[in-house]
Amino acid sequence: MSDEQKETPKPKPKPISPGKGPKVSIWIYLGVLLVLLTIHSLFVMPGASNRISYSEFLGLVRNGHVAEVVIINEINIEGTYTQAALDSGIVKQPEQPQSRFNVEQAAPVNKFTTTMIQGDDIRPILDEAGVKYDARVEENWMGGLFSWLIFLVVIVAFWMFMFRRMNPGQQVLNIGKNKAMLYDKASEGKVTFKDVAGLDEAKEEVQEVVEFLRNPKKFTKLGGSIPKGVLLVGPPGTGKTLMAKATAGEADVPFFSLSGSDFVEMFVGVGAARVRDLFKQAKEKAPCIIFIDEIDAIGRMRGRNAMTGSNDERENTLNQLLSEMDGFGTDKGVILMAATNRPDILDSALLRPGRFDRQILIDKPDLKGRMEILSVHIQKIKTGSDVDLKALASQTPGFAGAELANMCNEAALMAARRNKEQVEMIDFQDAIERVVAGLEKKNKIISADEREIVAYHESGHAIVGWFLEHTDNVTKVSIVPRGFAALGYTLHTPLEDRFLMTKEQLNDRICSLLGGRVAEDIIFGKVSTGAQNDLERITNMAFSMVAVYGMSEELGNVSFYDSQNPDTTFGFNKRYSEDTARKIDETVKRVIQENYARTKELLQEKRELLETMAKTLLEKEVLTTADLEVMLGPRPFARPDHEALA
Ligand code: ADP
Ligand code: ZN
Repeated sequence: MSDEQKETPKPKPKPISPGKGPKVSIWIYLGVLLVLLTIHSLFVMPGASNRISYSEFLGLVRNGHVAEVVIINEINIEGTYTQAALDSGIVKQPEQPQSRFNVEQAAPVNKFTTTMIQGDDIRPILDEAGVKYDARVEENWMGGLFSWLIFLVVIVAFWMFMFRRMNPGQQVLNIGKNKAMLYDKASEGKVTFKDVAGLDEAKEEVQEVVEFLRNPKKFTKLGGSIPKGVLLVGPPGTGKTLMAKATAGEADVPFFSLSGSDFVEMFVGVGAARVRDLFKQAKEKAPCIIFIDEIDAIGRMRGRNAMTGSNDERENTLNQLLSEMDGFGTDKGVILMAATNRPDILDSALLRPGRFDRQILIDKPDLKGRMEILSVHIQKIKTGSDVDLKALASQTPGFAGAELANMCNEAALMAARRNKEQVEMIDFQDAIERVVAGLEKKNKIISADEREIVAYHESGHAIVGWFLEHTDNVTKVSIVPRGFAALGYTLHTPLEDRFLMTKEQLNDRICSLLGGRVAEDIIFGKVSTGAQNDLERITNMAFSMVAVYGMSEELGNVSFYDSQNPDTTFGFNKRYSEDTARKIDETVKRVIQENYARTKELLQEKRELLETMAKTLLEKEVLTTADLEVMLGPRPFARPDHEALA
């Protein structure tokens, strides 16, 4: 297969399971239906061609041309002419068969059939004419059987028709086949890391996968195991698919690409069958990469909405995926890559070691990243000398790679429409407007004012985190909008919660979370909704300190959390009095207020730094620890990143 692929000059990505196409098979089914109908008519209406009318029949009987009759089911009459009548030629001969189907069935000329009028009693007439008669009951089982068959065929045809309407291009017989697109090694336009601008950290992490695919033995020889699954996390259009494709390109292996929603079908068991099929195909092509876009379509947490039962099918699919992932050893050389922008809703079973245990953040690009992406996409365009990449990049905050690519394309089209020889700056600027207008409908582009607020908010978080003793190291501050909710973020080193935290650490963490809101308060004298998520976390933390970890003087060393019975801990069935509930509320409030005051004091003291930092952030969009050190000086309570807590 792959040999042929190499010879063809331009192999296009193709669906893995090519069939004869849906149109052909529906015609086959229709043909079968037609044949059955014909056979049916042959059996059910035998000898229809030398049928005579009832009145003719009565006339024949009276004139003595009929020798004998058989009355079938008391309604049909099969008669035989007398020899005399045949010889004399007065008998009406059957018409010659019109269709070739009933050649063999052509009725014998001495016989005829007719149907009597219901309720007519012809025995006296027959007696009178001296015609022999007999009766027969015929069970028309053949006709019945065929009616059933036809009914069945019609149902199946209808079902197929409906099915096809719902899944264009889907073959009914291939329903359990996966729908992955295969990009083979030799596919033209191979994507490599060169085509992926920016994302240097992600590339570095993915490099490991590339090396493994190039030379699996090198790694497995020593007994090491390589990740089976890599999860690319980031908002849409940031180049997750591109990254996966480039990984395959770098490693020079085939690349299966499909979307999580391709597994989800209205039929039970289809998703699981498709997963099985996909892995089978992949193992044949190993080493290779399977890329599942939007994995959240199948990977959502299980066990929610248990009421509806509608996600049983999705769960089956997920279970199948999990068991397939467990089923192949890394030495098989199949690596799964998946993309999502909602890692938080994924089932934890998917993220366990041996499955998607690597998470790589693919974020929206910062100023520098945008410049790099623009320079990749501008290569394909004939640009005028006045095009300034830096200016374009700074005019497009919040644009993802896809939007930048789209913008370049729009600019080229715009210039063509204006009959220009080159794409000029003005075309790019108009294109930006166009793309922004489109984006505004999708997710709001933030205004300059909002950006400023976000810059101060994030600077507040960072400065508080920097100067307090018990907080984690600040590693990154960004005001590149990430999606709907987060307009910016401040990253601390240990992303995971620790196993043990002291009261001081909790308090300091509350302060650094409050830093955003306090900064807004100090600088603008008013607060925004941007702190909602911070406040939610603060409230949870303060509540846990008081009611779960026994960290307040007011309540003392009590924990109202019952791990055996989590439902009955708080809320309606709570195990404490209203009085205690009020006390908890007050204490939570006090904890937060005290920390607020502490934070405000600190930030007022560092106000100048806050202003410098926010301004730098507005300009550079992303600051790392190194930048912070230059700006804020070394951390007063610097600690190693992963300090173990005794
Ligand atoms: P995602 O899978 O994250 O939704 P894609 O990988 O499909 O995004 O990206 C869509 C397009 O955007 C790509 O085909 C590419 O043209 C462009 N693009 C996105 N990120 C980058 C990048 N870092 N460098 C170059 N082009 C990019
Ligand atoms: Zn915040």
